Amino acid sequence: MLRRVIIDLRSDTVIRPSPGMRRAMADAEVGDDVYGEDPTALKLERTVAELLGKEAALFVPTGTMANQIALLLHCRPGDEVVVGEGTHCMAFESGAAAAWAGVQFSVAGQGGLFDVAALDRAVHAPADLLPNPRLVVLENTHNRAGGAIWPALQARAVSDRARALGLAVHLDGARLWNAAAASGSSLAELAGVADTVSVCFSKGLGAPVGSALAGSRDAIKAARRLRKMMGAGMRQVGVLCAAALYAVEHQRERLREDHLLARRLAAKLADLPGLAVHPVDTNIVLVDVTHRSAAEFVQRLRTLDVLVNAVLPTRLRAVVHRDLEAAHIDAALGAFARA
Ligand SMILES: *Cc1c(COP(=O)(O)O)cnc(C)c1O
Repeated sequence: MLRRVIIDLRSDTVIRPSPGMRRAMADAEVGDDVYGEDPTALKLERTVAELLGKEAALFVPTGTMANQIALLLHCRPGDEVVVGEGTHCMAFESGAAAAWAGVQFSVAGQGGLFDVAALDRAVHAPADLLPNPRLVVLENTHNRAGGAIWPALQARAVSDRARALGLAVHLDGARLWNAAAASGSSLAELAGVADTVSVCFSKGLGAPVGSALAGSRDAIKAARRLRKMMGAGMRQVGVLCAAALYAVEHQRERLREDHLLARRLAAKLADLPGLAVHPVDTNIVLVDVTHRSAAEFVQRLRTLDVLVNAVLPTRLRAVVHRDLEAAHIDAALGAFARA
């Protein structure tokens, strides 16, 4: 009997732990991480700090927590944070930035990435009736911009300008692994524009749980306390860190194939009538539908066993990940053609 196969293109968060990863988790050496005694957590944090070219790193359960701790590190209530359009820590973290750090946002430019001129327009001179600008957040790759990579020179110029204005820089690098794989820049080069950087192990890398926040030794010491304050001081967390380490060591290569498959998906979708496909930098494909609503299209695809997300009234998002092979992409293309 043929097994019904659901092709899940909603996100790279749907990846299940691989057999090798499950073995690494089962075999993990552990201790009580609240006492700083979990060897696997310490190894992961050292490894990630080194890869990102920072002094220290901290394992946290989610990317949301990593970003929110970063906001708390850099800002005081009432401060202003400059971000690109659709930035995750402003738009997709349940209002946490207002609830915890008490910051407000100023949006620079359009489309997610922005340049120095847009930064200058978003940052005003100090005045008693205005919020204090304190931090710039760059998101690389930019999720809502379709997995777009920041051009290296542009990121550097924005970062230099931010510092000249006296602002700190946080990099939301949930998918920095993808940016590195696709651009050929090292993770440390990409992270070099920022004071703090967050990365996710639970996106394309395929770990079930976890992110890290990296930065100076002092920043990460303070972050560790904030993590405890948020209720995420964890005990034998090496079981989870083993999955993240395995992902970093063994599943990073695969991102290149995700990018090739995403490009193939985009190229063939562009041949179908009624679809306008955005340029693809990494593993995310944005598609505008011209003849019906995105929600209707999502429903039609669902009946054909293909899952995608509607991210705007007329825009779909399809995300390629390691649980999909070329045959799945071809089957998804067939479903798109029928839908
Ligand atoms: C997924 C994601 C996060 C973190 O999400 P969690 O679900 O909290 O792990 C942060 N930033 C970006 C850009 C993301 O895509």
